[in-house]
Amino acid sequence: MRRPEGSIIVVSAPSGAGKTTLIRRLRASMPELAFSISYTTRARRVGERNGREYFFIKPEEFRRLAQRGAFAEWAQVHADLYGTPLAPLEAARRAGRDILLDIDVQGYARLKRRFPEAAGIFIVPPSRRELERRLKGRHQDRPEAIHRRLEDARREIAQWKNYDYVVMNDDLREAARALRAIVTAIRHRAAARGRQMNHILRNFGG
Ligand code: ADP
Ligand code: 5GP
Repeated sequence: MRRPEGSIIVVSAPSGAGKTTLIRRLRASMPELAFSISYTTRARRVGERNGREYFFIKPEEFRRLAQRGAFAEWAQVHADLYGTPLAPLEAARRAGRDILLDIDVQGYARLKRRFPEAAGIFIVPPSRRELERRLKGRHQDRPEAIHRRLEDARREIAQWKNYDYVVMNDDLREAARALRAIVTAIRHRAAARGRQMNHILRNFGG
């Protein structure tokens, strides 16, 4: 079979760095990008809808899906389980659609073993202090959870070299612009352009 050409684009960041905000902006400007909706055992937050941000399931169901091989990767992040469903990923690739994944550093490392061509973008906050400010300002997590997320951030940031691109989210508009430029570059990699190039070559009588 010909290698599918849809790019797998992974975005990771320590919690609170602004990944959700940046991804929302990116998707608004590139609505043709497919987005992978993960399964999670964590509690639904106010404003989240099942099937939109995540599929919210019980740990038993999560384990059953994992055993059945339904996940391209899965990991425990903070205190909960998160997994990327394999079927939509494969469907997007077969259709030649680019697909965006919002997953953590362990998930990215596992996914790379299965899909080495996946491109990784890491988003970092400008400082620990600013990360703490954003986590507190979001009013979504209890103090213990915020403490845990800050501790996890150190371990996550240490993985930055596994990624192809790094975006520091200090000024939001600048970071959004950089992210868009990176995604555009990934989508223009020669390896992702075979179909188009063959078409153009035929047009030239090649
Ligand atoms: P993540 O998805 O990485 O956990 P969010 O997108 O929820 O992070 O952002 C965490 C908080 O920080 C939100 O309240 C968001 O509005 C704010 N935020 C995001 N980017 C910036 C930025 N560049 N400057 C200041 N605040 C930001
Ligand atoms: P949150 O609970 O704040 O939405 O997400 C917490 C972390 O879990 C984020 O770093 C997010 O990228 C990660 N995450 C979300 N879905 C998945 C997934 O399917 N697999 C993995 N490995 N991590 C995920």
